[in-house]
Amino acid sequence: MPELPEVETIKNELVPYVLGRRISDITLLWDRMVRQPSAEEFRSQLVGQGILELSRRGKYMILSLTGGEVLIIHLKMTGSLLVKPEAVEPEKYVRAIFHLDNGDAIHFRDPRKFGSMWLVPNASLVVGKLGPEPLEPDFTPQVLAERLEKRSVPIKALLCDQSFVAGIGNMYADEVLYAAKIHPLRLGNSLSREEIEQLHRAIQLILRVAIEDKGASVEDYFRPDGGVGKAHFRFQVAHRLSGELCPIHGIPIERIVVRGRGTYFCPRCQPQPV
Ligand SMILES: [Zn+2]
Repeated sequence: MPELPEVETIKNELVPYVLGRRISDITLLWDRMVRQPSAEEFRSQLVGQGILELSRRGKYMILSLTGGEVLIIHLKMTGSLLVKPEAVEPEKYVRAIFHLDNGDAIHFRDPRKFGSMWLVPNASLVVGKLGPEPLEPDFTPQVLAERLEKRSVPIKALLCDQSFVAGIGNMYADEVLYAAKIHPLRLGNSLSREEIEQLHRAIQLILRVAIEDKGASVEDYFRPDGGVGKAHFRFQVAHRLSGELCPIHGIPIERIVVRGRGTYFCPRCQPQPV
């Protein structure tokens, strides 16, 4: 699923297509994508509004509109936003189309139909409970240490918890823990100061490099122009099959399930908690 680097890439690459444009119409092919308000109100309130700004919070994309409201989009498992000329017929997985006043259209493609949209007066109504943004300057090793302090929960589960830190999902959590040499089942409150600093460095490095690589094209991730990303070519453990070898040790990557999530790690790089 698209995580922080993928959503950041999509947001950055959509800017030149949508900034300053007006939404001239909306076609909803799957009404249940609209979480708030009703699909009918969503359409009537959105049509005619101009797009003032695009931003990202965690895995959510936020479009600020001239009417003062915000359109919030979550791509969930398989969503992508593709820029197409107006004349292009939607393919079968397109669930919504934003028609723009310059003759372009944004196709919300989503094979699994989990993608969601909200039109709200204030972004905090949807994203208000998210944890810190991991690439912002206020996310320091000290902040991470404080958040880990009382958490006797496996670190893999904490990294995927959007209220603990925003934007990281299953694949980047595995990559971060491999880079930080921390076993996914280590409890949050068991990490040493040194390990917390390694973890903090790994979070920022892995996410920054993945943004430079324009995201990881696994499953159904596409950039707005239909192109792919190349972050997955750097993956050491995520999306590998168990049995593939750790590039450092040449021993098989193992798979376990942590709180319902398939988790890949190297048993030598990331020693078992004692
Ligand atoms: Zn290893």
